[in-house]
Amino acid sequence: MGDHVVLGFNYCQHCETCLAGFPGNCIHTAQYNFGALRPDGSSPLSDGHGAIAGSFFGQSSFATHTNVSEHLAVKVPKDLALDVLAPLGCGVMTGVGTVFNVLRPKPGSTIAIFGAGGVGLSALLAARLSGCSAMILIDVLKSRLAKSLALGASHAVDGSGANAVELIREITQGRGVDFAIDAVGKPEVFRAMLDSLTVRGHGALVGAPIPGQEVSLDLSQSLGAGRRVSMVLEGDAHPQLLIPQMAALMSSGALPVDKLITRYPFGEINRALADSLSGDAVKPVLIFP
Ligand SMILES: [Zn+2]
Repeated sequence: MGDHVVLGFNYCQHCETCLAGFPGNCIHTAQYNFGALRPDGSSPLSDGHGAIAGSFFGQSSFATHTNVSEHLAVKVPKDLALDVLAPLGCGVMTGVGTVFNVLRPKPGSTIAIFGAGGVGLSALLAARLSGCSAMILIDVLKSRLAKSLALGASHAVDGSGANAVELIREITQGRGVDFAIDAVGKPEVFRAMLDSLTVRGHGALVGAPIPGQEVSLDLSQSLGAGRRVSMVLEGDAHPQLLIPQMAALMSSGALPVDKLITRYPFGEINRALADSLSGDAVKPVLIFP
């Protein structure tokens, strides 16, 4: 009672992947997050006339009050402002978790991050914490490239041209990067991410592609280079573990998520959406009066 909590995504807690510690790949993800009802078919919400759809992402938290399963509410320290903690449950967890849990770069490693939105820039903060040397951010928006440099990226590459991979190779003296993240989810970006890797480099797809898209690869070249690719949902993280870890890093100043957010009064929700689409806001946070 009275605890501060952050909400993560929903998962069944009982399938093999949940039990293995990877609830982002819960086999019941669609039903639990996008079914608009509780798993038993009932609704957690009513409007006075009867049940209404709810439970989007297990949350439907676009409200002053919500009704969620206990396991997706993660207790956080009260010394951190809730508006700064709000984005931890999905985008920030995806970026940070992919670096900490999947790629695990050693100090001095190089990394290229395609897409400098909330996920990509969260990955950048984690790459900094991991001691990466070259941290190359690729985006098509100048404002996002400037933001990347302000947050500690060593290089910002305009991805609107066709030569992003060449530029990444130039930056790394022709070698390619040790690690790469595709936070966009388009076939051409995924291919560029793979092509930017060095021998035995490790890439991760984290951006959500439109269903049905395919990508072509030079299998012989990919095999010869021994490149690895991981498909990563929610940073391969367990929210009950990674969210408190990130909160602790925020308390110490090591993970400045506050620099990613822009606050809007709830009444300015349309401006928040427009700024998100234009790229002016990385992570809009709506504040209820
Ligand atoms: Zn499950």
